[in-house]
Order: sequence, then C-alpha cells, then structure tokens
Amino acid sequence: MGVVEQKVKQYLDKIEKNDERINSFLFINPNALEEARAIDAKSKKGKLYGLVFGIKSNINVKGMPISCASKTLEDYKGTFDATVIEKIKAEDGLIIGITNCDEFACGSSGETSAFGATENPNARGLITGGSSSGSAASVAAGFCDVSLGSDTGGSIRNPASHCGIVGVKPSYGLVSRYGLIDLSMSLDQIGPFARNVSDAVRVLDVIMGKDERDTRSVDSSAVKLDKVKNLKIGVLKVNGVDKEIQKIVDGKVEEIKKKFKWDTKEIEIKHIDLAVQTYYPLCYTEFFSATRRFDGRRYGKKIEDSCGEEVLRRILGGKEITKAEFGGRYYNKALEVKELIKGEFEKVFKEVDCIILPTCPGLPWEIGKEMAVEEVYAYDALTIPANLAEICAVSIPAGKIKGIPVGMQIMCAKGEDGKMLSIANQIEMIR
Ligand code: GLN
Repeated sequence: MGVVEQKVKQYLDKIEKNDERINSFLFINPNALEEARAIDAKSKKGKLYGLVFGIKSNINVKGMPISCASKTLEDYKGTFDATVIEKIKAEDGLIIGITNCDEFACGSSGETSAFGATENPNARGLITGGSSSGSAASVAAGFCDVSLGSDTGGSIRNPASHCGIVGVKPSYGLVSRYGLIDLSMSLDQIGPFARNVSDAVRVLDVIMGKDERDTRSVDSSAVKLDKVKNLKIGVLKVNGVDKEIQKIVDGKVEEIKKKFKWDTKEIEIKHIDLAVQTYYPLCYTEFFSATRRFDGRRYGKKIEDSCGEEVLRRILGGKEITKAEFGGRYYNKALEVKELIKGEFEKVFKEVDCIILPTCPGLPWEIGKEMAVEEVYAYDALTIPANLAEICAVSIPAGKIKGIPVGMQIMCAKGEDGKMLSIANQIEMIR
C-alpha cells in the first residue's frame, strides 16, 4: 500500500471511531482511498502531494454535498470546484470530506449548524468555536492534515484558538472567493487550519493569487517562511478580556522579548470598541442580499422557510437595514467607521511590524449553554477588527487554562501575510 493510501486509511479509521461524538464531518468522500491510490501512483509530485484536507461546507467541491450546514441546501451538491479547490486538486491535495460549521457561517460556536454542534476534541463537552467548527475540530482531532475554513469576523481564528491549532485569515483579496457561498462578501476570506505554521504556509501559498473570477482578488508574491529579526511588536490590550487569557498572552510576549530581543510597545487602536457594532450592519445587509438567490426556485428550499433562528434574524435584520430610509443610517455609517478603523491600523503599522493580542475574550463554553445574542456577538470583538481593516491575522496556540487551549493573534499590515507567518513560525518554536 502506498504512503498516501496508508495515511488516508488511518484517517478514515480514526474518523469512523471518533467522529460520531465530535461531529466534525458532514460528509466523507467515498472515493478517498481510490484517489489516494491515484496520487500514490504519480511520478511527478505537486506542491501539496498527499496532503489530506477537510473542506468547510460553504466552499464548492464538485459532486459533494455543500449544505452550509443548513436544511436550506441539504440536498445541494457542488456543481463546480471553487478556485481554491481547483488549485488544491491540481497540486495533488486530497479531499477527505466536508466539514460541519455554523449555518451559513453565521455564529461563533458551531452550535447553529442544522446538523448538530461539533465537540471540541481538546476540551470535552465544550464548543469548538465557530463558525468553522468542523474544519478546526477535524484538524485538532487528527482526522486530516489540514482544512479550509472561511473567516468573515473571526470564523477561522476563533475555533483555531479554542481547539489549540493554527488558523489563518489572509489579507482581504489574497485568496479568491470564487466558489465560496458568501456570508458578507466584503469581509469574507478563505484560509487554512493546520497543526503547525509551516503546513498552513504550504496551503496558503497554493490557494492564493489573483483570479479573474473574483474581481477583488489581487496578485501577490509567494507566501513563504523567512527569518525575521529586529522586530517591533505592538501589544494591544482590549477591554473585556478574561484576566487569565490576557496573562497567558502577556507571558508569551515576555518570552518573545527574552528569546529574540525584539522590542515591544503597547499600542492603541482608536474606535476598536466600535468594531462589533460596525460589523453587524455590514454583515446583515450583505448576507440578506446574498441569500436572495435561495428562493427555492433554482436550488434548495426557500431560505426563510428552512433556516434556523440566527440566519433568519440576519435576513430580517438585513432586509430592514436595506430599506432606503435606513441604508444611510446603518450601512453607510458602518462603512465610514470601517474606513476609520482601517486607517487606525495603517497608522499603527507604520510604527510596529506586527500586533499581538488574544484571539478570544473568553474560554469556550459548554455545548448547549444559553447565551444572549449580544453576548455571542461580543465574542468576536478581538477578531472582527482584522476583517474590517482588511489586514491579515493568524491565531496560534499560546497556552492552556485548566487544559483548555488558549490562542493568541498576530496581525500584520494588508499584504504582509508572509511576514506574519514567518513571525508566527518563529514564535511557535518557543513552545
Ligand atoms: N461570528 C461572526 C458572525 O457570526 C463571524 C462569522 C464568520 O467569520 N463567518 O458573523
């Protein structure tokens, strides 16, 4: 048996044994072993040779059920490959299955999936975070090498943090969104989850690049790991973060200072406290518009008749905001604040190489715990700013509290994804 086939077989066995409880996959590729054999037989090896992927269920993969974890698209099968999927396949990556998530990527816990919550493989009984819950859990549980998620306000970084793995939100435009079923198209980015930074880099370097089918995608030089030196780190402290979490991140910054002799400086981002309030009007409005095609005529069911509570809240909210008399008051105002926050980051990045802060303000909660909507929304206060500012951000493991993983974010200026990941790679080595 070839090495790829052997690896896929081991992953399939592990999934069979443990995923009933974790619920990270919604679908397993029935041809995985056959595809593995075909890859094993190749003499010319692509850049992702034999790398085994889980794919979030809002990214189109031809022939696989792409439900966005919603009853609305329960019977929908991808009719084409998203650009990122074309690229993965062309470089000999293998897709083992489609992962669970919050319904239409709306959520921060994984609990809004119509097909049940995903359990955190590294903290039993607790949420994985979301919305890319299954993509994070599948990598953390060792069901695949890497996975893809989407991040609109934190959906890659938040579950990466809770599950103790690496999750990258690329700069806006670095990765083509063609074939992603959008939540909020001006904020969405596809990005990788991995168990270490170098695997994430390997994936990002393949999936990135300008694509004629996504007008906002940009050309960029290769994302690769370089040695970084003499850095100036901006340390960002935001109100409302659990003290223990902040302590872990502060401790990590101290270690970095000692080990690499990098300079650190406390920085401030004005208006960052408005990030959550700015994000939701943008997200609601763009989501409302994106969902108009789910009218039950072309594919799937009518969304309003088949979706869960959170998705419906956004559709109804977005519909109100879109009415002419409210558009200026909410959407345009939100765009103005978005620009302000973007400008603030640009200013700070003239002084520092990167910014370090926690990924989430709290620890993952118990699956099923009653949470107020505002409480869940506030949970993204530390991740949303990067989406608004269009910059890149990565969450890497920083430590644990009573065995529960805690992540920290590293943010760099727009387009500096390679530099950010080089910094993350160096910090990861301190572990
Ligand atoms: N939790 C945020 C939301 O519910 C972000 C989701 C995401 O990044 N896809 O919209």
